[in-house]
Amino acid sequence: MLVVMKAHATEEQIQAVCAHIELLGFRPHPLPGAERTAIGITGNHGEVDRGNLESLPGVAEVIRVTKAYKLASRDVKEEDTVIRFAGTNATIGGGEIAVVAGPCSIESREQAFAIAEEIAAAGGQFFRGGAYKPRTSPYAFQGLGLDALKIMAEIREKLGLRIVTEALDSASLELVAEWADVIQIGARNMQNFSLLKQAGRLRQPVLIKRGMSATLEEFLMAAEYVMSEGNYQVILCERGVRTFADHARNTLDLSIVPALQHVSHLPILIDPSHGTGRRDSVLPMARAAVACGAHGVMVEVHNHPETALSDGPQSIYPAQFASMMDELEQIAPVVGRRVPRGIRMAAAAQ
Ligand code: PEP
Ligand code: MN
Repeated sequence: MLVVMKAHATEEQIQAVCAHIELLGFRPHPLPGAERTAIGITGNHGEVDRGNLESLPGVAEVIRVTKAYKLASRDVKEEDTVIRFAGTNATIGGGEIAVVAGPCSIESREQAFAIAEEIAAAGGQFFRGGAYKPRTSPYAFQGLGLDALKIMAEIREKLGLRIVTEALDSASLELVAEWADVIQIGARNMQNFSLLKQAGRLRQPVLIKRGMSATLEEFLMAAEYVMSEGNYQVILCERGVRTFADHARNTLDLSIVPALQHVSHLPILIDPSHGTGRRDSVLPMARAAVACGAHGVMVEVHNHPETALSDGPQSIYPAQFASMMDELEQIAPVVGRRVPRGIRMAAAAQ
């Protein structure tokens, strides 16, 4: 159920409707839009009695949301969600292409800094790096854990790049939330519902990677889990799905971009690194991602991919990253977007 407030409804009227929804035993989710505020209602297993809601001051109408996902749906919020990073010019969603780049894993301070410096020099705004790695083999490199988080915090401090890193479980989520700007939930955890709910109780943006065999609806329901707990800053990331194709690690499903945008207001990034598994395919698919309307890309970059502890074959060289930035900058205006080059700190408040 969704309560659509009148365009000129006052803050008090919105609060009164929220209080009424709570009184009925449900949870209100006020989502301000450009024209009006909509209040999503969750926690109901059946119909909510719309009668008394419709008669409250400031209410325009009460609508039944028929889709399984509600808060993630455009029915509830018409305009695209734009996630802002306080004190910087960085955004995810909206008119500016977000570029997230960095190694698959943080391997050492030297490795992480060498790559981060190249990314910052080429105009990237977000640095990715795994501290806690979901590996198919228990014998493979599992990540440096807290040490890696501290290295990334230093990168943020020295270079300004905002940090995106994965939480694998409840314990690492608490640590990641303390150190990172964006919490990544990996493909293998897309349906780890307790982890999604825990991330929903935090207030940092959460980037959810599509599960290897997840449908569009399952993907959006993962976002809904986070949002239903009150965290509306969710970013979707397509990273390839499993198919019969054997020319690539996964099949990057760019067709999900317009399909998602049709039904959801959430930002969508494309990960052509895991999506193809091949260095030579990363740039072409990153270009295609921007061309098809994605809000940005996440790519793996390594200065010595031949000795990388994880995902070397799909990691691009820093020089390729710089070329990618130039190419995306040219493509973006064709689809009404632009690529901001470099992160800038806002002048300190007076
Ligand atoms: C990653 O981004 O490093 C990663 C492990 O991605 P995914 O969850 O998509 O496999
Ligand atoms: Mn990887």
